[in-house]
Amino acid sequence: FFQAALLVLPWVASALGQESSTPKEKHEYQSDVARLRRIVINSLYSHRDVFLRELISNANDALEKLRITALTDKSLLQAGEPLNITIKLLPSPAGTGEAGRVVITDTGVGMTPEELTQNLGTLAKSGTSDFLVQAEGASTSQQGNLIGQFGLGFYSSFLVADHVYVASVPAARPEGGEREQWVFASGAEDQSFEVYPDPRGRTLEHGTEITLVVRDDAKEFVDPKKVKELVEKHSSFSTTYPIYLYTLI
Ligand code: ADP
Ligand code: MG
Repeated sequence: FFQAALLVLPWVASALGQESSTPKEKHEYQSDVARLRRIVINSLYSHRDVFLRELISNANDALEKLRITALTDKSLLQAGEPLNITIKLLPSPAGTGEAGRVVITDTGVGMTPEELTQNLGTLAKSGTSDFLVQAEGASTSQQGNLIGQFGLGFYSSFLVADHVYVASVPAARPEGGEREQWVFASGAEDQSFEVYPDPRGRTLEHGTEITLVVRDDAKEFVDPKKVKELVEKHSSFSTTYPIYLYTLI
């Protein structure tokens, strides 16, 4: 686990969420997703820090998937990208209504636009309906325990973020298509999400970049000391790939 400093001005200038003219596909969330997101957002106030563990674990899974597929298809690693996870913390100036941004990037398998829609917009995960049945009607503390058992995955992002952007490039060329960078975007309260070509163009070789626009009331999660502590506590032993933490100097 490494901590490093970073100059971020060029990145801030091209941050997602400021574009207006890109045509976007709009998708309604499945009803189960809406239920799960409601539970996550409403009941997990004291377990908000699980988001980091969940996103790092997804990044680790994506890297592991790429490593395994590349054993039989060497072309997947031809670009020579090292397999790793980076976390960038970008506090916003006071008064902007957002505490800042947490950007978690992995150089793993990545996702096609169809996979962004399918994997992040629907609940394919086994055990989710059991979770929903048990969690609805349970007390907040029981829900906390249930979350420990089931894991919450990607939707835990909305515990700390008002908006989430997921930019991704698949490592493998999709059948009949090119490898392009697309974005999945959703607000915490939205009943729908959007999928569209990244207006910044291609910034990733392969893999996934998750941008959390962190709410003012969750500003501890853009604090390098806090994030370092959380990574060390929850993820540094369960993760196979290096994690780099970038903060402002
Ligand atoms: P789980 O990890 O248990 O499958 P999640 O909600 O955490 O559930 O993630 C849902 C799905 O989204 C994953 O199964 C995976 O297909 C996809 N996904 C999430 N994060 C990433 C990532 N960083 N890279 C590639 N795919 C991802
Ligand atoms: Mg997961």
